[in-house]
Amino acid sequence: MLKENLEQVQKNVCAACEKAGRNRNEVTLIAVSKTKPVEMLQEIYDCGVRDFGENKVQEMCDKMEVLPEDIHWHMIGHLQTNKVKYIVGRTTLIHSVDSLKLANEIQKQAEKKDVIADILVEVNIAEEESKFGIHKEETIELVREIAKLPNIRIKGLMTIAPFVENAEDNRLYFREIRQLSVDIKNQNIDNVSMDVLSMGMTGDYMVAIEEGATLVRVGTGIFGERNYNI
Ligand SMILES: *Cc1c(COP(=O)(O)O)cnc(C)c1O
Repeated sequence: MLKENLEQVQKNVCAACEKAGRNRNEVTLIAVSKTKPVEMLQEIYDCGVRDFGENKVQEMCDKMEVLPEDIHWHMIGHLQTNKVKYIVGRTTLIHSVDSLKLANEIQKQAEKKDVIADILVEVNIAEEESKFGIHKEETIELVREIAKLPNIRIKGLMTIAPFVENAEDNRLYFREIRQLSVDIKNQNIDNVSMDVLSMGMTGDYMVAIEEGATLVRVGTGIFGERNYNI
């Protein structure tokens, strides 16, 4: 069943790329595997997926222990500073950096391990109270501050759009964050590339791709509904 789900999502990704006149290889599908057992991740891995997203440090580390080493792990959840040490040097990309305090801790741990940490700055584009992420207006300032940290490379922006029935309702938000990333890119800040846009989830990844997403984070669409009670 997972294989069929994945094939459907892959097809949709292709269709969205085609519709937008984009090359399929501009978009990477991240399988969001939070709450799912490693057997399910292995099944998706065996279908060729190498990018997995998790939102809890402990769960990600436990899964890393038992799954193949060539997986690219993406930290997509809110990150507490005291947990940073467990993931720096082990994740491909940290999507959820929304404060200088967190960036400073990532810098400290990356320096200790002598690595460069690739990160995205998370923007709360719809200004939802319930969501993490920095306000749009404060983003450039935060990017400028983080850019000064030598062991961090800012690769782009991430956003979690509102939960909506109709994916079209998020198109303007995707457009807005894409424009923000272009504006930041045009400032030519050292250490900042803005080539990555992480946006789009099960409900709206096709619209996100049409609006420029380079990473889409799909959980339910691949693994099925999550049950938080088990
Ligand atoms: C859970 C989660 C996803 C995946 O959500 P689905 O709607 O299941 O595709 C994507 N991004 C983040 C940050 C998440 O926490």
